[in-house]
Amino acid sequence: MPEFRPFALSATYAQTLAEFCVPWQPAAAPAPKPVRLNRELAEELGADPDLLAGPEGLAMFAGNLLPAGAKPVAQAYAGHQFGGFSPRLGDGRALLLGEVVDRQGRQRDIAFKGSGRTPFSRNGDGKCALGPALREFLVGEAMHALGIPTTRALAVVATGDMVRRERALPGAVLTRIAASHLRVGTFEYVAVHHGPAAVHKLADYAIARHDPQLAGRADRYLALLDAVAGRQAELVARWLGVGFIHGVMNTDNMTISGETIDYGPCAFLESYHPRTVFSSIDSQGRYAYGRQASIAQWNLARLAETLLPLIDTNMDRAIAAATAVIEAFPERHAACWLTVMRAKLGLDDSGDTEADRTLADDFLTLLQRGRHDFTNSFRALHDFADGRPQALARLFADDPDAAAWQQRWQARQPQRDAALLATMKRANPWLIARNHQVENALEAAVDRNDLAPFDALLVALRAPFDERDADRHYTEPAAPEITASYQTFCGT
Ligand code: AMP
Ligand code: MG
Repeated sequence: MPEFRPFALSATYAQTLAEFCVPWQPAAAPAPKPVRLNRELAEELGADPDLLAGPEGLAMFAGNLLPAGAKPVAQAYAGHQFGGFSPRLGDGRALLLGEVVDRQGRQRDIAFKGSGRTPFSRNGDGKCALGPALREFLVGEAMHALGIPTTRALAVVATGDMVRRERALPGAVLTRIAASHLRVGTFEYVAVHHGPAAVHKLADYAIARHDPQLAGRADRYLALLDAVAGRQAELVARWLGVGFIHGVMNTDNMTISGETIDYGPCAFLESYHPRTVFSSIDSQGRYAYGRQASIAQWNLARLAETLLPLIDTNMDRAIAAATAVIEAFPERHAACWLTVMRAKLGLDDSGDTEADRTLADDFLTLLQRGRHDFTNSFRALHDFADGRPQALARLFADDPDAAAWQQRWQARQPQRDAALLATMKRANPWLIARNHQVENALEAAVDRNDLAPFDALLVALRAPFDERDADRHYTEPAAPEITASYQTFCGT
């Protein structure tokens, strides 16, 4: 077959960090069928969407035709899973094809998920079912539209294989685009198996990709830790702002880039409660909505441990410097959270920070007590500020404490100019990827081969801030008994 070159692929990871990955080929897919292509993302990557939609594109996305320049590798990584250390996880069903420089000059990874067994598969089958692949596509696009850093799906194709889960399901390959696939767990793997000199190499690669401005600095490894901490402080605050629960914040699922990765067991809050958990295996609530910042800090401490020998040759000084970064995390995250909450409440940044925090907390308490829908309640604040007070009046109708809160809120910010109102709108989406609607769309796609509900939901979620009558049904929370029994699953 002639060469297929939809983008200019490099293989910097495979070449620079060959010790931390294994060259590997994707499994052949017996009968590939296109499912969905992300045309907008294809353009962003400088690829021709029509070419990717053609027969060679399909063969490529199925793993049957390697694009020119691809040097597929399974990446090694370790990870703390629910607090316990697994020294060898790695890409058990994924492969990195290489990197491409996008239209804005950013280097992005192109990777497969579901492309067959690798040396890291352990007992897994190396496969991905169609439903979870579409879920990652949908929720990733929803997060992107909300302005939250995330990996994104370029394509989903059905392989023609069946995947054995609780029942036989159609298999799929998801093509994932990421700023990189470097994880905290990558550092843990290299530190444990290869030692400090190798961590140096990995850290230099991470700096070149994510923090090139640090490259010449003597304290660059401490600065890298600081930069990762800053990105995670912000990322988790952004998650909290839209009610997102990642669900499995193991260190192998936390990126160095600050992008959200791995949408397996994620879910969105409906009625507000900080202890909300949906993941079937998270019986202790380790990764509950309200614990995500402290888990991010815990994960960063694991990253810091791998960097200690690089930070200072004197171990005491290294520990002191790294500890300062880790201990500063809660305050840093709190500052990001305040920024998110001020935007959600429509407050300018002139107010007293403690008073604004309390105002936000008190609103959340009202929501928790009344079991109100997180997304719609905040949106009601925006609508009130925008001259439509009805939804807020309805929300607060039965709560005697609510009027006092509303008075405080209005007194804090009596006027809003157009810019502040626009910020408030962008912080309070009208639409999020509600769990029951995601499930309905996936069920139609998988069980009835009907992608119309998926497409309709995707189109809606790509414009989450503007009200449209046709999409109003997507704003409806699930019945409480549905949310109460809703469960999500890892590694599906
Ligand atoms: P995840 O829960 O998707 O973040 O995956 C955790 C680990 O399990 C990673 O090392 C994955 O590569 C591996 N894994 C998950 N599902 C499979 C599968 N079906 N086959 C092989 N490895 C898997
Ligand atoms: Mg993972």
